[in-house]
Amino acid sequence: MPIIVLDPGHGGTDPGAIGNGLQEKNLTLTIGLKVKQLLEANYIVDVRLTRETDVFIELSDRADFANNLGASYFVSLHHNAGGGTGFESFIYPGTSSSETGRRQDVLHGEVMKFLTGFGLRDRGQKEANFAVLRETAMPAILLENLFIDSVNDTNLLKDPTFLTGISNAIASGIGKALNL
Ligand SMILES: [Zn+2]
Repeated sequence: MPIIVLDPGHGGTDPGAIGNGLQEKNLTLTIGLKVKQLLEANYIVDVRLTRETDVFIELSDRADFANNLGASYFVSLHHNAGGGTGFESFIYPGTSSSETGRRQDVLHGEVMKFLTGFGLRDRGQKEANFAVLRETAMPAILLENLFIDSVNDTNLLKDPTFLTGISNAIASGIGKALNL
């Protein structure tokens, strides 16, 4: 059975982005736990989280965790900040024509299919030299699920129904990307 590692960004002393009464570290964990539950309910998979509580974990330790498990896919969960709105995803530079890029097409598309219904902007499928993308030995992706400093975006991120919806889209996208 394939092992999928979900990586809720930040944690513990590192809150990540903060805005509109929300902390990134709490939202990434909420979504990570929901995606794990949905994946295990719908597919025959072994889903592990790099953290299941509010603790700080080094980026290299997150990658090592997935490498040591021999995971099939690494999905890092984050929320954006810096004055924008909408959704974007990242893979390691130069991997867009590989399996990593094919999976990004599928997962990104599945999440956007859900978000478009809320009028949210597709910021694109991007590449970045992030540690968790660089140091993981398997295909990996990092999702930036809306902006914590946008009132429009956080009105959605504060809605439990929306959080379940985006978690469902991520789980479905992972299932399709892995042909489960
Ligand atoms: Zn982050």
